[in-house]
Amino acid sequence: MEGLRDILLASDNIVFFGGAGVSTESGIPDFRGEQGIFRTKSRYGYLPEEIISHSFFMKNPEVFYDFYKSTMINQEARPNKAHLKLAKLEEAGRLKGVITQNIDGLHQMAGSKAVYELHGTIHKNYCMNCGKFFGLATIVMSKGVPRCDVCGGIIKPDVVLYEEGLDSQTVESSIQAIAAAEVLIVGGTSLNVYPAAGFLQYYKGKRLILINQSKTPYDKRADLLIREPIGEVLGRI
Ligand code: ZN
Repeated sequence: MEGLRDILLASDNIVFFGGAGVSTESGIPDFRGEQGIFRTKSRYGYLPEEIISHSFFMKNPEVFYDFYKSTMINQEARPNKAHLKLAKLEEAGRLKGVITQNIDGLHQMAGSKAVYELHGTIHKNYCMNCGKFFGLATIVMSKGVPRCDVCGGIIKPDVVLYEEGLDSQTVESSIQAIAAAEVLIVGGTSLNVYPAAGFLQYYKGKRLILINQSKTPYDKRADLLIREPIGEVLGRI
């Protein structure tokens, strides 16, 4: 912990790269963990990874939204100590950006400004027909499939589904931030999900900090390795 504190205090160019573990401490289930969403089976008999795919959304938006609204939207979730500490580090001019694989918007809720959401966000939704923007409330309050109030088109969450590519601008900005970072903190991810995990190869700095409860393929490359929950660790700094 002292080593972590020293490293953070000495840098004004920190970048954070976070995974599902950052949100689990806010009560949001991850996908692949022991309590993960992928362990559940939908009441329709489809596998979760099948439901949240692009082709399934196009074919069967009713089932998609039934699953999506009940499983992937957690309105009562609030930022935890990890989100709050990262927002403070940014405010203090030490942290340059947060790159996240989470779609819950908790970093912004905590006050973070430079947030790169690799997998999109539940807070942005667009009409597939006319492109009109809708916030989360429209999705939550809709019955069944949410539709555009202007043209009647189906609204689609700006969340990267299976079979869909990541947003190239977000990927580029994330890689630029990592490549320019002096200190890179990787937290709450087992680094098994590609292409996001491949981003680490762009890091050229000398202070790679890994904070995760379980082993990752990058453990040996870390300058500092902490196998504890990310919120607890950052909360103690
Ligand atoms: Zn529309």
